[in-house]
Amino acid sequence: MASTDKKDYYGALGVKKAATADEIRKAFRKLARKYHPDVNPGDKKAEEKFKEISEANDVLSAEKKRKIYDQVGFYSDNIDPATAEAYARGGGGGYGAPGGGAGGGVPFDFGGFDFSGFQGGSRAQRAESEGFGGSFKDIFSGMFGREGGRQPRGPQPGTDLEYQVEIDFWTAIRGGVTRLEIQRQEQCPTCKGRAVVGGSMECPECHGSGQVTQMGGRMKFNIQCPRCGGSGKVQNACSTCDGAGVVVKREPLEFRIKAGTRDGQRIRLAGKGNAGTEGAAAGDLYLIIKVGGHKLFHRSGDDIHMSIPVTVMEAALGAKIDVPTIDGVGGQAGVAQLKIPPGTQTGQKLRMREKGVVSATR
Ligand SMILES: [Zn+2]
Ligand SMILES: [Zn+2]
Repeated sequence: MASTDKKDYYGALGVKKAATADEIRKAFRKLARKYHPDVNPGDKKAEEKFKEISEANDVLSAEKKRKIYDQVGFYSDNIDPATAEAYARGGGGGYGAPGGGAGGGVPFDFGGFDFSGFQGGSRAQRAESEGFGGSFKDIFSGMFGREGGRQPRGPQPGTDLEYQVEIDFWTAIRGGVTRLEIQRQEQCPTCKGRAVVGGSMECPECHGSGQVTQMGGRMKFNIQCPRCGGSGKVQNACSTCDGAGVVVKREPLEFRIKAGTRDGQRIRLAGKGNAGTEGAAAGDLYLIIKVGGHKLFHRSGDDIHMSIPVTVMEAALGAKIDVPTIDGVGGQAGVAQLKIPPGTQTGQKLRMREKGVVSATR
């Protein structure tokens, strides 16, 4: 039976064991910025490192998980906090200290006993362990409750995508169709998103037993094999998608822009994000609209502003003049008559009702 390594989460994040939650968060953020797959495309080492620090952060940033990790030396969802506590106060306290846990009120005492014999599973050793007033299976069933069942891999929903789309001034006001090429993860055509191909074979990690041995101080625990999820069987990773279940594809996309679309508006296209694996739902695609400007019209929300030059006579005596408006056809402006009241000052704002943008929310 193989062993999984005990993981040094504090070392992975480069913090002291007494680090505060804030120090842990800062250390993780700093490392995450350095090793994030987005900044290291195709760099397997960085990807591994990112996984490692993410796992460390996942455990150390959650108070309950960190406590269990501190008490037992590793973390698993299957560990019951009360049992971990008992373990830490009992033989586990100060890993490897002989005779530890002699204090009163200790639920059970592992001190000075070599548990490695238990792993052999022979009748004689099993019988010896009964001397503790209960089989080890009983003791450990509290610590590692549900055996098997949980698979580390499973259907994973696709992530969302976000693209910025530039559209011109008139398309935003009158609506239209815009084209864009996006890059998204699609379900792998070879394995149909299952990430594996062919039949199953014996798991090389646990040699088919579904369990591996984990060290906790001087103790050894049987835990569910992380590689096969306790099933004892694994399958070959699909070579097309490298076991990801998805492949990256460039894809042309055509979508409608509603009349009245504003700058900065988000458009959601449901299910157009990255594909999920093993039949899980795809993510969504978000388009952030960037609206271009116009040399004459200045748009502010659904209002249009512009400067109109008038003569001194027109301002003083009042006049009716033709001004451009946005309600023309195609890329053309329309025209409307504006009444300049007598005595109009420079910089004065005149309003023309209903000559703004037709709101997209209507
Ligand atoms: Zn296995
Ligand atoms: Zn595949």
